[in-house]
Amino acid sequence: MEIFVDKIMDITHKKKLKTLFPESVELDIPLSTLSQWKVGGNAELVVRPKNKFELIELRKWLYEHNVPSVVIGNTTNLLFSDEGLKVVCIKIDNTFSNIAISDNMLTVTPGVWVPELARTAMKAGLSGIEHICGIPGTVGGLVVMNGGSQRKGIGSVVTRVETINTAGALKTYNNEECGFSYRSSIFQQNNELITEVQLILDDSKSKEAIRQEMLAILLSRRGKFPRKQPNCGSVFVSNPDMYSRYGTPGKVIENCGLKGMTQGDAQVSDLHANFIINKGNAKAIDIIYLINKVREVVYNHTGYKMVVEAKFVSPNGEIRNI
Ligand SMILES: Cc1cc2nc3c(=O)[nH]c(=O)nc-3n(C[C@H](O)[C@H](O)[C@H](O)COP(=O)(O)OP(=O)(O)OC[C@H]3O[C@@H](n4cnc5c(N)ncnc54)[C@H](O)[C@@H]3O)c2cc1C
Repeated sequence: MEIFVDKIMDITHKKKLKTLFPESVELDIPLSTLSQWKVGGNAELVVRPKNKFELIELRKWLYEHNVPSVVIGNTTNLLFSDEGLKVVCIKIDNTFSNIAISDNMLTVTPGVWVPELARTAMKAGLSGIEHICGIPGTVGGLVVMNGGSQRKGIGSVVTRVETINTAGALKTYNNEECGFSYRSSIFQQNNELITEVQLILDDSKSKEAIRQEMLAILLSRRGKFPRKQPNCGSVFVSNPDMYSRYGTPGKVIENCGLKGMTQGDAQVSDLHANFIINKGNAKAIDIIYLINKVREVVYNHTGYKMVVEAKFVSPNGEIRNI
């Protein structure tokens, strides 16, 4: 893969950011310790803002000084480059995590852990997001990806999203403006940072019924997906047309005889062929090699070119389709 590093931070930017946000900035973090796939070179500067005001200040400063940045959540849908990250990495996680409930409306900050949101809703007797209970990301990443399971997406219950644009200004979006479609939203294109999400849920089910549904979902996921080796969830998005003719991506990949195929320490999982696992020291290029190989073989067998759900993060912070 060709890599361009056109705009990067310099040492004065790093020093200034460390002075401005002393408790939130860390330098030279190996992405293999940060990322779910456990791959990637070093991130030169990671900042974990604790609240909206710190984020506004940070984004304004970056804008005024023309310093590029990238936003990440729990990295469960990201493949970092072996060359690392040369721009400011804004990591949104449990330091920016709060859920407020008013009747059947939840107002949630983006660093909330998705299973925690599902559990909180269940305890409040609110249903509609049981399907997200096993997704190991943050709410911000979930909304950007319109994530969900059982062919559902979080977008169907989102009523309002607040963001900060690259210049540091707050904006709000109603559901229609979010452009939700299968595993996609407008936030994959507009470079804005989600600061708050509002959901309206259904209060007509009993807590016990919601709990039982979540338990059934967790149980069925437990046996199907590899849990011990680092991975990024399903690699390829299910295509309804391909599904009706050949089955799920996992089934198709398996039927093409690709289960267990390895490149370096990356492997098409033996347990579920739509997962690529890191057996130890896999590199991003090993994973990309397997993705390309699987896509090519499936295309030759079926005529369908599968779309990759995970995104590649280049050293200059660009988030690209693989
Ligand atoms: C074991 C496993 C199982 C999974 N199962 C599922 C599943 O069943 N269904 C499903 O849909 N997904 C699944 N995933 C994928 C992934 O968990 C989801 O897409 C998740 O919601 C991403 O959240 P994240 O915090 O990890 O985001 P990241 O991977 O860190 O980022 C994803 C995207 O969101 C952007 N982003 C993150 N936070 C913000 C923010 N606050 N503001 C603006 N942009 C932001 C990033 O720039 C990036 O473009 C799974 C992953 C794993 C590892």
